[in-house]
Amino acid sequence: MVKGFKNASELDFTILSNKEAMLQAFAQVDEEKGQEYPLIIGGRRVMTDEKITSIAPATREVVGKVSSCSKELADKAIRSAHEAFKTWSKVPVEERICCVRRLVELMHRERYILDAWSVEESGKNWGEADGELCEALDFFNSYIMHTRELDKGLELVDSEEATKCVYTPIGVGVAIPPWNFPLSLLAGMAIAAVITGNTVVCKPSSDTPIVAYKFVELCERAGFPAGVISFIPGSGSVIGDFIVQHPLTRFVNFTGSKVVGLRINKMAAEVSEGQRWIKRVVAEMGGKNAIIVDSSADLKRAASGIANSAFSFQGQKCSACSRAIVMSDVYDEFVDEIVACAEELKKQQGSGRDNLPMGPVINKAAFESITGYIEIAGKEGNIVSGGKYDDSEGFYIEPTVVRDITRGARIANEEIFGPVLAVIKAESFDEALEIANDTEYGLTGSVYTEDRTNIQKAKTDFHVGNLYFNRKSTGAVVLQHPFGGFNMSGTDAKTGTRDYLTNFLNLKSVCEDL
Ligand code: NAP
Repeated sequence: MVKGFKNASELDFTILSNKEAMLQAFAQVDEEKGQEYPLIIGGRRVMTDEKITSIAPATREVVGKVSSCSKELADKAIRSAHEAFKTWSKVPVEERICCVRRLVELMHRERYILDAWSVEESGKNWGEADGELCEALDFFNSYIMHTRELDKGLELVDSEEATKCVYTPIGVGVAIPPWNFPLSLLAGMAIAAVITGNTVVCKPSSDTPIVAYKFVELCERAGFPAGVISFIPGSGSVIGDFIVQHPLTRFVNFTGSKVVGLRINKMAAEVSEGQRWIKRVVAEMGGKNAIIVDSSADLKRAASGIANSAFSFQGQKCSACSRAIVMSDVYDEFVDEIVACAEELKKQQGSGRDNLPMGPVINKAAFESITGYIEIAGKEGNIVSGGKYDDSEGFYIEPTVVRDITRGARIANEEIFGPVLAVIKAESFDEALEIANDTEYGLTGSVYTEDRTNIQKAKTDFHVGNLYFNRKSTGAVVLQHPFGGFNMSGTDAKTGTRDYLTNFLNLKSVCEDL
């Protein structure tokens, strides 16, 4: 049992004062909308001519314009982080922790405005935005606790000599998060790096650079010295390879798609001229997550959990369920239940600002990709709910349920990252498990069952990083459900844990003859 750690609690927006504070925050976002933002390199603000335009997925309005980093400026950022490392790596742990504590305070103080920007830029609803902020706070608090523990070094056996084994920071990291958790994933990556004495260069997603800017600004206010955390938005296709391959980059912390993660892994493995280390890569990637429903399951409960896993935040969570694998004797009944859930959700779709359960997907490219999959779904199976879409005002796609999908179908194998659920039939629990495991991914999975034998079987044979029973597959909470995937879902780094931090540390064994 972990002692001395408590997860942050989400705001209750049914309380009038909380609701009013959120509406006020939206008013502030509206006042600031359309502004231009600089890069932050070595503590200096740098405006560039070229800009990345951030678009609100709910309305297609411009949220703001962020300076776009060139390779030359990225080089400057990495070099200044390298310089800052020389001093920051020697700052005592408690001083580093002090900065993180101030950041925690500032995040609490600026909570509503951060939530509001997140709703505006990523299309989440209020609860999802605040849940993400809580995750960031949990990362900070858990890393404070783990860093203190790690600072004691490894416990060794007694010997005649004076021996110690101590953790030491390793250098400059590059943090590359996706857009779907623009605050918590970037914040977790950045703080894990710097609390352990490293410096970090943050390249946010081009879809959500403003939330990232607001976070880096708070880090400055929290007192992290210049150069410790830099901010270099820029297109991954333009500066991505450059920052990964830079000889002074010591580690890369990436979360995103399989294709980009594998590219980063390959690029980082090639030794650049002047490079003096093997780069470390943490790469958390996609999923094709399955939920099994067996004959003993409470079907209403299963349908409700699966609808939540498949459609909340429009299916744009790496942990989202995109395959329901259902035993044949309860298949039709389950389909009726899940259709009822999807139809209910369909009536509650709209802007994140209106705080509805379903909002828009992130951008035009995602809209086109997901709707392309819906066309394929219509050919590979039968769409029994949803299937319609409209991008006239924002990027809206109905929650879509497709039945009669076979295990070899594209819909059953490719990550769609949108609100599309394939319902697949299995003749036995063993076959259901086999289908669930028949994917290159291994991120999350869940089983709805009342059968202890099946629970036991799934515990050993369902190969995913995060396995659940009789509950949804989304909503992992820091230090309750350490998160990270197997196989092509990533390096299984389990964010929020002490092990996670050791990715950014060397272990130095020191021995003195007495
Ligand atoms: P993505 O397209 O892979 O982009 C992720 C990040 O990589 C972005 O910042 C992107 O920058 C950058 N990038 C693109 N090309 C690059 C390159 N050649 N070198 C370095 N960086 C590069 O993923 P996404 O669409 O943002 O996010 C969705 C994906 O993330 C899904 O597959 C989802 O499952 C996965 N995800 C996984 C987890 C997890 O914990 N396993 C959590 C959340 C999301 P640009 O925006 O400028 O292209």
